Amino acid sequence: MASFKELGLKKDVQEILSQLAYQEPTLIQQKIIPLLLTGENLLFTSKTGSGKTLAFLLGFLNKINPKVGIQMMVVVPTRELAVQICKECERIGDALGIKVGVLHGGKEIVKDKKTITKKTHIMIGTPGRLVQHINAKSIKVGDVRYLVFDESDQMFDNGFFKECVYLRSRVSKEAQIVLSSATISNRVTEFMNLLPSYDVQTIGEQIPKNIVQEYIRSPIKEKNEKLLKFLKTKKYDRAMMFCNRKDRAEELANIFPHAKALHGDVKQTQRTNLLSQFKHGKIKVLITTDVAARGLHIESVDMIINYDVSRQPEFYVHRMGRTGRNDKKGYVLTLVCEEDQEHFDEIIERYNLKIKEILIA
Ligand code: ADP
Ligand code: MG
Repeated sequence: MASFKELGLKKDVQEILSQLAYQEPTLIQQKIIPLLLTGENLLFTSKTGSGKTLAFLLGFLNKINPKVGIQMMVVVPTRELAVQICKECERIGDALGIKVGVLHGGKEIVKDKKTITKKTHIMIGTPGRLVQHINAKSIKVGDVRYLVFDESDQMFDNGFFKECVYLRSRVSKEAQIVLSSATISNRVTEFMNLLPSYDVQTIGEQIPKNIVQEYIRSPIKEKNEKLLKFLKTKKYDRAMMFCNRKDRAEELANIFPHAKALHGDVKQTQRTNLLSQFKHGKIKVLITTDVAARGLHIESVDMIINYDVSRQPEFYVHRMGRTGRNDKKGYVLTLVCEEDQEHFDEIIERYNLKIKEILIA
């Protein structure tokens, strides 16, 4: 297990943590802090109580410059959460000379005067009130380089999606964006897809129970034959098939009936076209890669086929998230050849999955 020191935190930060009796980082802190230090945009999922606040605070604290004004903004769905996060940030920030402010609805805006007039490095707040202050020019967020949306799925469900998109448009163009979320909802994906690139970390995410998962073991050369046989027995309306390579996606589109390939090399106009055909049932199977799937908003589907096992375990969950939306039944089939076995085992272990084997003669 990595210590706070090994995560790359500054010495003074390490000292405060030990004074406050934080002995070692939680699992999520071990994962998130180094990623935030790299500067990558990030979406991560984790349960409540896993230590998210310190994860994003410590990840950014190293980079905050006490001489500049508001550089970090944390947007949260509720007033209570705003206050709670503010307290947690103050415990660490105080000793470092980092000032924290909180702005939330539910009280007269004039009462925010003290908060908006004092020097602040980290501003925490609910979306509506933050937007009000930005529009009134009472706070300046153009220098915000670290923008966190905590409990983003809840925030978007509460109708704050537009405000959050707006807030993002008002901060520095170079801002690093981080979303925490209990589950990856459509809205969360939609928001992330507005960013040029991002990393996804699923830490202790719960696998939806409405999705049935099965696999077929197959020698690499017999994959097509087995899959074609399987598809003849299966009822489905709209399927997405994931491959690990673009050329394979192309190749398979010629083999499988009612299928088209969509990947990073397909032109934007053609992509839009394909998606619309897929949505209207003119294409039954959309064959794609992780790269393309990430940059696209894809309608819910009733079957996911992992033609290849993804090399990064989190993509198994990501791919799966395209089915079983709105509590509808979902289905995931994975083809497992010898070369895939190790990666497949890793996925099963990481997410503690129960996947049933089906035999195709
Ligand atoms: P989450 O946002 O994931 O629900 P919080 O950030 O609110 O979780 O943290 C939950 C509790 O765990 C808080 O009381 C926090 O002070 C405590 N905590 C966080 N990180 C650590 C740590 N590394 N060691 C001990 N306690 C921690
Ligand atoms: Mg929290």
